[in-house]
Parts: sequence; structure tokens; C-alpha cells
Amino acid sequence: MASEMTYRRHETQQPEAQSLHRKPIKPIRYMLREQRLIFVLVGIAIATLGFTLFSPSSSSPKPIPYYSDPISGSEMRSSSLAQRKSSIGYITGGIGSVGGKIPLGLKRKGLRVVVTGGAGFVGSHLVDRLIARGDNVIVVDNFFTGSKDNVMHHFGNPNFELIRHDVVEPILLEVDQIYHLACPASPVHYKFNPVKTIKTNVVGTLNMLGLAKRVGARFLLTSTSEVYGDPLQHPQVETYWGNVNPIGVRSCYDEGKRTAETLAMDYHRGANVEVRIARIFNTYGPRMCIDDGRVVSNFVAQALRKEPLTVYGDGKQTRSFQFVSDLVEGLMRLMEGEHVGPFNLGNPGEFTMLELAKVVQETIDPNAKIEFRPNTEDDPHKRKPDITKAKELLGWEPKVALRQGLPLMVKDFRQRVFGDQKQQEKTTTSSSTE
Ligand code: NAD
Ligand code: UDP
Ligand code: UDP
Repeated sequence: MASEMTYRRHETQQPEAQSLHRKPIKPIRYMLREQRLIFVLVGIAIATLGFTLFSPSSSSPKPIPYYSDPISGSEMRSSSLAQRKSSIGYITGGIGSVGGKIPLGLKRKGLRVVVTGGAGFVGSHLVDRLIARGDNVIVVDNFFTGSKDNVMHHFGNPNFELIRHDVVEPILLEVDQIYHLACPASPVHYKFNPVKTIKTNVVGTLNMLGLAKRVGARFLLTSTSEVYGDPLQHPQVETYWGNVNPIGVRSCYDEGKRTAETLAMDYHRGANVEVRIARIFNTYGPRMCIDDGRVVSNFVAQALRKEPLTVYGDGKQTRSFQFVSDLVEGLMRLMEGEHVGPFNLGNPGEFTMLELAKVVQETIDPNAKIEFRPNTEDDPHKRKPDITKAKELLGWEPKVALRQGLPLMVKDFRQRVFGDQKQQEKTTTSSSTE
């Protein structure tokens, strides 16, 4: 009441100043007299403190420390998963970066991850792990060597999407991470259409790097031990540049992957794309294509079908076999870690093909016969990873020995080989009775 009177007196004394002074004077005097100002100031202080402490998007992004990669000598941003999640809007330039704060309804829970080639052997195991972790996974696959069967158990899960798409064509997606696996891996498959293979490795990788650049996603390339060709250094260390025939029948794959690595490093250095490079050594496990011609799948399927194991050449060439769960663990550590690589991911246990045949005999059928066949062109004589770098920088090493992993694969193959046979028998019987 008193304040109103004061205000009216003021009104009659200076009518032309009314519109200018009416609003500010009344609340200020009111606050001063009622000692409300102190409450307002304390309120503002508490709100500012709370906002600074609990709102990650409002705080200006802290500079992320840089690490130097011992191999590439290049600089890269360190970003543990926690760091990445809290600053994802800043890093990705996605919805979170627009205007700083993410509207409540648009906040994401897990990461959005693309797995190209996710319907294949390795990709589908990786997808299982990512889904289990709570990520939103998009599989991009043209089903050349992969199959819907490998990811069917995720159908209906709202965190899972499957897109039939060939990576040789551009694609627009909004994601945080890209695991780029799309490429046939078995020699029989990649030699089937060599031009398509090299296009997949070069144009496909270029497109996925373009996507990574556009949305600020981290990009992991699944390269291969084949970049070492027929190696003159044994075991192979990441610093070894390899011995590859550039015009041979395997070069669509070997040189394709070497170019893919080059592209990844050029996008990293030239466009600041966060890249990771894994050089994968021979991997086996459930869901491998039964008739893809790779040695472990061939031997296992042959032993189960009571056919002779086909050893190419004199069988003295060596490979190192890694169980798929070890590889997936290595890929995820690499993606989440702060090092570009390249990293060898493989099991250093080295076997000749004759020794492998023996392990398959012991596991499936001691009476399985061995049949020698001529070897294929440019077949590498030996291969064994030096994994010192992955051990030191990723804290990773394989856990599953060949004799432990093989029975797990045999169980899966047994179901598929004999399941298929039963299915065939049923179809033949029903068509003959019609
Ligand atoms: P895979 O053949 O089972 O899987 C490859 C997947 O990529 C398949 O689902 C296939 O349909 C898909 N694909 C192929 N071309 C494509 C294209 N143009 N567009 C979209 N999708 C396409 O092979 P994998 O063993 O799972 O290998 C996965 C990755 O790991 C490959 O890049 C391979 O080069 C690499 N790698 C594998 C091994 C191994 O021993 N398994 C060793 C070294 C490297
Ligand atoms: N690309 C894509 N998806 C994207 C962004 C790019 O498939 O979200 C493709 C694009 O079509 C191009 C390739 O990635 O063929 C490389 O893209 P980049 O922007 O690096 O090169 P540019 O388009 O300038 O040649
Ligand atoms: N190999 C074999 N018998 C087979 C298939 C392959 O002896 O039925 C040999 C092949 O000659 C090579 C090794 O096994 O020396 C590994 O071949 P794979 O195709 O599995 O993979 P690579 O390492 O050659 O890509």
C-alpha cells in the first residue's frame, strides 16, 4: 500500500517520465525495503553454481589432451568412452552441438554405431557385443557373403537396424562410430569378382570416411595381415611395410586394403577424422560361411561330412588362428582407445596347415583322411603376428587357444551342416511323394 502511494505521488509529479521509470523503480524499491534483494542474489548464485556443475553442454568444452602415436607419429585426440559420451555434441557436431543444450526428448542413451558388413562372420559377433552394451546399432550390408541369419536374433529390437546397401554407393546416416568391415574376406570370395573387391575396398572405404568426416564420427578400418603379403620378416611387426605382388590374383584384396589404410590416414591427417586401423590375422569361429574356402571352415566341414581334408601345397605354410571373441574384444578396445594404430590383432600361436589338420582330426574325427591339392597362386608362406603393440597400448591379448576355440566352432558347424542335410532330405522326400 505504501509503495503504491509513493508510486502515485511520483506519477502526479512527473507525468512524462512515467513510462520510463514506472517499471524499474517499483520492484527495486520494493525489494530494497522488503530485503528481498538478498534472496534474489543468493538464488542467482545457487542457480549459477548448479548450472555450472551439472550441465555438461553449457560448460565450454575442455581442450582434449593430445597423444602421439608411436607408429604414425601423428597427433590424435584422447577420448575415453566417458569423455566422448559427455562431450559427444561437441565432437560429433550432431544434434547435441546445435545451441549447446540437447532438448530433453532428443537425448540419446547409447552410442549410435554403424557396422558395415555387420551381417558377416566377424561383423555379426561385433554387433552382438555392441547391442549387449546398450548401443544403437545400424548394420549396412549387401549380403554378398553375409546373411540375415547371422543377425536375425536382433530383429524386433528397437536398438537394431538392418540396411541392405552396397558401400560402393554413398549413404547418409547420423552416427557416432563407424566399424567398417564390409568386404569379402575369404580368398575364394574376394577373387570371385576382383574388380568389385577393389571397388569395395577403395570406393566403399572412401564413402565411409566421407560419412565419418561429415558427421564427425570415429572410424575403424578392419584391415588385414595380407598387407604384409608374403612377408620377409617374421613374425610381422606393424612397422614392416610388406612384400605384396601388386598385379597378382590376391592384389584386389591386399592392395585394396593397403589403399584403404592410406585413405584412412589421409582423412585423419587431412580432414581430422578420428581413425583406427586394425590388421586382422586369420580368424575363425561360429557363423563362418561353411563353404567359403578358408582353411579352418574347409577342414571342419570336410571332417564333419567324412570327406578328406584338403591340404594345399606341401602343407608346411603357416598361419596363426584367432578365435572370433578375442578379435571382437580387440576391435572394441581399439575403437574406444586413443591410438590410431595400425594394430596387429591376431593370435601368435603358429601352425602349419598339416598341424591344423591334425588338430581338426583330434577334435572331430581321428580317422579323417588328408588329401594334398596344388596350392593357390601367391600364397604367403608364413604368417604370425607380433602383438607387442596391442598388448602395451590396448592392454589386449587373445585368450582362446585353437584347441579351446575349435570345439565351439565345430558345435555351430555340426548344427548347420546336419541341419541343412536334414532339411534337404525332407524336401527331397516330400517332392518325391508328391
Ligand atoms: P565376411 O565375408 O563374413 O563378412 C563381410 C561382410 O561384408 C559380409 O556380410 C558381406 O555381405 C559384406 N559386404 C561385402 N561387400 C560389401 C559391400 N560392397 N557393401 C556392403 N556390404 C558388403 O568376412 P569376415 O571374416 O567377417 O571379415 C570382416 C572384415 O574383416 C573384412 O573387412 C575382412 O577383410 C576383415 N578381415 C577378416 C579376417 C578373417 O580372418 N575373418 C582376416 C583379416 C581381415
Ligand atoms: N559420402 C557419403 N556419405 C556422407 C558423406 C559423404 O557416402 O555422409 C561420400 C561422398 O558421396 C563421397 C565420399 O563419401 O563420394 C567422400 O566424401 P568427401 O566429402 O570426403 O569428398 P567429396 O564429396 O568432396 O569428394
Ligand atoms: N588351405 C588349405 N586347404 C584348404 C584351404 C586353404 O591348405 O582347403 C591353405 C591355403 O593354401 C593357405 C592357408 O590354408 O596357405 C590359409 O588359407 P585361407 O584361405 O584360410 O586364408 P589366407 O590366410 O590365405 O587368407
